[in-house]
Amino acid sequence: MHMIDDALLTATLSRAAFLLVFLTVVLSQPSERFLWHWLAALIGSSLGAALMTQFPASGEPSLTLSLITYFLFMLSLVCSWSGVRLFYRRRIDPRLLGAMLTLPLLLFAVLDLCQVALNYRRLVIALVCTLPACLTVFEIVRPASARLFSPIVVALAFTAYAVALVGTAVALALDLTLPTLEAVNYPSFAVDRVASILVYFGYIAMAGERANRALRQQAETDQLTGLANRHGAQRALDRLEAARTTGAEGTRSAVLLADIDHFKRINDTYGHEVGDSVIVTVAARLRGAIRDGDVAVRWGGEEFLVLLPGTDIAAAQAIAERLRDAVICTPLHAAGHDIPVTLSIGIAEASPEGETLSATIVSADRALYRAKRKGRDRICVDAAEQSDSAMLTRPMS
Ligand code: GH3
Ligand code: MG
Ligand code: MG
Repeated sequence: MHMIDDALLTATLSRAAFLLVFLTVVLSQPSERFLWHWLAALIGSSLGAALMTQFPASGEPSLTLSLITYFLFMLSLVCSWSGVRLFYRRRIDPRLLGAMLTLPLLLFAVLDLCQVALNYRRLVIALVCTLPACLTVFEIVRPASARLFSPIVVALAFTAYAVALVGTAVALALDLTLPTLEAVNYPSFAVDRVASILVYFGYIAMAGERANRALRQQAETDQLTGLANRHGAQRALDRLEAARTTGAEGTRSAVLLADIDHFKRINDTYGHEVGDSVIVTVAARLRGAIRDGDVAVRWGGEEFLVLLPGTDIAAAQAIAERLRDAVICTPLHAAGHDIPVTLSIGIAEASPEGETLSATIVSADRALYRAKRKGRDRICVDAAEQSDSAMLTRPMS
């Protein structure tokens, strides 16, 4: 019976266990392409590491064995990079991917055929492998639409790989007589032990953080209009409430409640689906007319809440006029119909010393109710803020 190297057996079994766990993550979200790329990367590095144990301790491995091993490591690095690009919803060019996989292999083969000294070849291999490691770090640190925490772990691991590979190259450049493979690759081996754990767990954490973020976003978004729903509004309200009490967003904030007039008639006349597309168009026009930092919410069926941080009541009236114009300026087209739509809007203001934003929404609702009672298609300011004479009205055009 052969003696089994305990360390090797443990390393192999741990890699197999990690792979098994990662496979369950991939199978639980099979539509996420980045996970398949990372699975290929993990399989590539595991097989590469397994083949590397077959390299002779000194002297040269066969050309076939070296080529297959280096291909597996390159596959692992390139698939890590492409997976990270896909994770950030960045396009990957299959031709570039193919070139990144095949060109280094061709280079290794040519160097071998030209009988370039072994350590020169190893130096080139280390430098070539540094490139995808650096590119992976670059993809993580460059600005992205959503900032996540877990990719930092993976970026750290690939930085360590890049440093180890450059370290190997420098060691080889300084002393081309380094005797054994172990000595040549020592920094890479040491770093690989730690970095591979960071990568495995980092990928799982990235997939989990992304899925959680997506679920939360889904739960906070109205499916029909894409605006925030009440649940999503709560986060913005909490943030604004904190800013209001400290005066951080300017001294005052305003809220605006807009309701489509006689919407039931639109449903009854044109059908529910046309009603839906009216809601979608009104939402898009509202969203297009607000400033960055304002928050538009689908508050109810055909009712919209707009949060206006750092805005006093006079500015809110001007904004309400603009929103109303944006919605009613051109008739809405849906299912071959020109549908006239008007809005009633109620506005209220929250000051640092005044009522909470939730209470301000109730005040805006009261103002909206008054706008409806006064004949609709108009803007009313909460009576607590302004007298009725300040009410803005504009007849339907
Ligand atoms: P008012 O001017 O007083 O606001 O009258 P209204 O008809 O707009 O208001 P009312 O509250 O009487 O009716 C609102 C209607 O909106 C009733 C409901 O069936 C409809 N509605 C609510 N949500 C949706 C939706 O998602 N799609 C469609 N098509 N209709 C909806
Ligand atoms: Mg209505
Ligand atoms: Mg309503």
